[in-house]
Amino acid sequence: MKRRARLLLWAAATDATFERATVRGIDALCGRCIHCGRPLAIDWEGRSIGPPATLEHLLPRSAGGDDRLENLAVACARCNHRKGAREDARRARRGTADRALAAALDRRRARFRSPPRAWPLPGLPADVNPPMGSDME
Ligand SMILES: [Zn+2]
Repeated sequence: MKRRARLLLWAAATDATFERATVRGIDALCGRCIHCGRPLAIDWEGRSIGPPATLEHLLPRSAGGDDRLENLAVACARCNHRKGAREDARRARRGTADRALAAALDRRRARFRSPPRAWPLPGLPADVNPPMGSDME
C-alpha cells in the first residue's frame, strides 16, 4: 500500500470521530472532516467511499510540517484545496494564519486517540512514531 494511503488510514484511525462501520456494503472507517465536519468514509485500502477524503498536513510541508500523526488529519477535498489557496493569501498576514493553524492543531489533539487493536490497519511507515498506547509502541 502506498505511503499516502497508509498515513490517511492512520490519520483517520487516530481521530476519535472515526468509527468502523459498513458503508454501501463495504467495511470502512467513518468520521468527520477536521475542518467542516462533513461525514467522510474510507475503506481499509485508503480509498474514499463517497466524498473524497484527503490527507492534510495541518502545518503544511512547505512551512516545515512533517508526517507526525499529530500533524496529519483527514479533510474533505473541498477544505483541503481551499486551505491551499488560503495559505498563499495568508503569508502576507501572518497572525491570522497562526491562529487558524493553532485552532486546527488543537482540534486534532482533542480528537486524538489510539486506534482499537482489532482494526486491520496497515503498518506505519518506519519513520512515523506510533500513537502512545498502541500495540506498536
Ligand atoms: Zn471539510
